[in-house]
Formats: sequence, structure tokens, C-alpha cells
Amino acid sequence: MRYLVVSDIHSNWEALQAVLEAAEGQYERVVCCGDLVGYGPDPNRVVDWARANLAAVVRGNHDKACCGISEAEDFNAVARAAALWTRQELPVENLNYLRSLPAGPLVIGGFQIIHGSVRDEDEYLFMPQDAHEDFVSLGYPLTFFGHTHQQGGFMRVAGRRINVLHPTSEPGATSAALELEERQQYLLNPGSVGQPRDADPRAAFAIYEDLGLGVVEYCRTPYDVAATQEKMSKAALPEILIRRLALGR
Ligand code: ZN
Repeated sequence: MRYLVVSDIHSNWEALQAVLEAAEGQYERVVCCGDLVGYGPDPNRVVDWARANLAAVVRGNHDKACCGISEAEDFNAVARAAALWTRQELPVENLNYLRSLPAGPLVIGGFQIIHGSVRDEDEYLFMPQDAHEDFVSLGYPLTFFGHTHQQGGFMRVAGRRINVLHPTSEPGATSAALELEERQQYLLNPGSVGQPRDADPRAAFAIYEDLGLGVVEYCRTPYDVAATQEKMSKAALPEILIRRLALGR
């Protein structure tokens, strides 16, 4: 089976369309590590697409805030403003869909997906020491996560040392393959579709093929950032959220 793995779409329809185009013909199923909505201007288009197309998805912290499961108390002011704007844009059937999303970890075949960490969808895995506890508690050799909006992740070698993976650090590269090794553990982030924060504004995603030990292809694709920014301006979403899309930060 070949999976298109996406995360942190954040209501960015142009970025999602670009990802689906770039990945066309390379996958059978789509799985998402959460944050379908929040920040961007097209929550309903993205949620409608998710309801029709996702084989599996876990909830993210923004999904919770946008459907009212949480009140976004720990969000900064601009994230909260976007979450409240999103909540009033969503009709009840899309609010209910977001409310029904399961918390991770969610097992899919031989791997699992989470949003933040194994314990908490609001927890960030930025550094090897952040990932340490997760590796100890993982029941599967491969877990995909999101939340940091940084493509890459971690590999635990021989149950001890944790290596940081920076698969697409070559400027301009559109993909980089990672061949999974036997007896190692992986926590991998496909990157963010709709609001990358790893200094590369291109939409990020991964293709995972579970043949043999498995191969993960990390991918980037450009999209029409200006079109998304214009919609955000029209919706009067916070200026700083509009600007950051062009910077990838
Ligand atoms: Zn996110």
C-alpha cells in the first residue's frame, strides 16, 4: 500500500490542491496527522475534502479549538482570532465532523499517526530529548506526527541514540527518500501542507510505501501563496498570519 501522508493543512485550499496534484498517481490512501483547519481562509473546502477523501485522521489542537472542544486559552492572540473566525464559518455538519475526530495515536496497518506527541496533541516534538519518551512508549517502529510544521523527524538507533532527520535541507530539492532500516524506530513529520515553518514556504507532504521495510519520500511543491493571502485579507484574518505564508516561518 502507498500512503499520501499530510499534516497541518490549516484551511489552505491552494496548498492542498498543489499537494494532491504533485502526488497524483503515487498513492492509494490519504492519512492526516491533524490540524485540518485554523489560520487559513478555506475551512469548509478543506473539511468537505477531508470527509470525502481521508482514510484516517487524528485531531489536532486547532481542530479542537475551531469546533469548540477547547477554548483556545493557550493560543496566542492571532491563532485564537483565526480559530474563532473559523468556528463561525463552519456549518454544524462540519463542526460535528471535527468534534468526532479521534485523538491519536491511531493505528493504520503497521504504523500509527499522532498530532503532537503520543501523550498529548498539544505537545511539540522539536528536539531529540522531546522525542525520547515517545520512543520509549511507541508500540510501532513507525509513527507519523505533525504540529511543529517542520518536515523531518527522528530516528532512534539501536534503542538508544536519537538522530534528527533533515531530509530536504538541499535548497530547491523537491523530494528526498528515506529508506527505513530494520530494528530502528522512526518518528517522522511529513511537514505542513498549509503553513510550513521550516524556512521553506512550499507545501510539504510525504509518500510512504510499506513494501518490505518501507520507504518514505519527503516532498515539497510550490503553490499559489498570493491567492491564499488575498483570501485571508478579504476575510480580515490577522496580517501576521498572511505574511508568514510567504516566508515559511
Ligand atoms: Zn498546526
